[in-house]
Amino acid sequence: MVKTPKLPLYLDYMASTPCLPEVVQAMLPYFSERFHNPQSAHPPGEESLEAIERARRTLALLIGAPSPKDLFFTSGATESNNWALKGILQLPNRRGSHILISQIEHLSITHPCKSLERQDVTATQVAVDRLGRVSPDAVKKAIRTETALVSITHASNEVGTLEPIADIAQVCRKAGVPLHVDASNTVGIVPISVAQLGCDLMTISPHMFYGPKGIGALYVRRGLRLPPLIEGGTQEEGRRAGTENVPAIVGLGVACELALRDMASRARRFTALRDRLISGLRPLKGLHLTGDLANRLPHHVSCVIDGVESETILQALALDDQVYAASGTACSAKAKQPSYVLQALGYSEQHASGSLVFSLGLETTENEIDYLLDVLPKAIVRVRSLSTNH
Ligand code: PMP
Repeated sequence: MVKTPKLPLYLDYMASTPCLPEVVQAMLPYFSERFHNPQSAHPPGEESLEAIERARRTLALLIGAPSPKDLFFTSGATESNNWALKGILQLPNRRGSHILISQIEHLSITHPCKSLERQDVTATQVAVDRLGRVSPDAVKKAIRTETALVSITHASNEVGTLEPIADIAQVCRKAGVPLHVDASNTVGIVPISVAQLGCDLMTISPHMFYGPKGIGALYVRRGLRLPPLIEGGTQEEGRRAGTENVPAIVGLGVACELALRDMASRARRFTALRDRLISGLRPLKGLHLTGDLANRLPHHVSCVIDGVESETILQALALDDQVYAASGTACSAKAKQPSYVLQALGYSEQHASGSLVFSLGLETTENEIDYLLDVLPKAIVRVRSLSTNH
């Protein structure tokens, strides 16, 4: 008998993570007594600016950026992705008007590509294999003389496969094409060094590693004069206008500090729990684990189950067992379309309607994993009997 853990059981940390108490504590004064505008020319204003610069320095350490000056704060990963793509396509000295992305990019990459295509830009997608891997060789073959940018995610939130970014970066460098990495799901979770990778742009998403929402960052390699997406005042060196979100930036800085301190121990814990869940799922008949099991996010498990739609099983788990998990992405969950990511991996439309993601957080326990492994097979039986009775 598995002991029932504290319910509800949350296993949807790829959608968002809670701010750690240290993050909230650090943010609080900046909502009230330290409310001052960082651009104001008086001591409290300067203190706000210094708080921003402290956060920028910590973020630079976390991603191994050569200088904090290479980092610009945005409103989140979506804005960073939009800025990277649209900014490069505005550079007068760009190679041409072709963008190369992968088949499993987030909507905040694919939708800007669609709107750019209405302005004479061509976007093509490099295929992924059954495990969701983008092959560096395929990138090499797909680069054209007019390719202005290659943009590849470091890890999709749906299948969790870690992409061979270092090898892709080498291919791009050799071809002389800038590389943007959407590292929304990896910064703060796995070790990253932009300097070592040699990528030109990187998207950072603090609410994926226990920082606040409404704040993000874009790493821009020095020398790449990316024009601003949001125009106005002179904040962020004139590259991203608008009064800075000081509390969120301070929270981001603390989340980075904690990630720097705890990343290795968190990853060990996550990996052990993830592998416990994977081992428990393996024997389930008709269940297929998706993504690359060898090279994946430490806190991510994904699967499809024969004849079971994600919506039905997620509802059964939520209503009957108080387990909150996810299908594909939080951003398109309500669209109820078969997952384009799983279809890109070669899964049938039927399987692609059954995308399931269980993602782990700092609070997740072995007991919770065992509880999920206890209730999931029963939920599958219930859902299957419902569909055969109809
Ligand atoms: N890129 C990737 C790979 C994502 O998984 C997400 C969603 N978590 C985003 C971008 C967009 O993030 P946000 O909605 O926080 O802007």
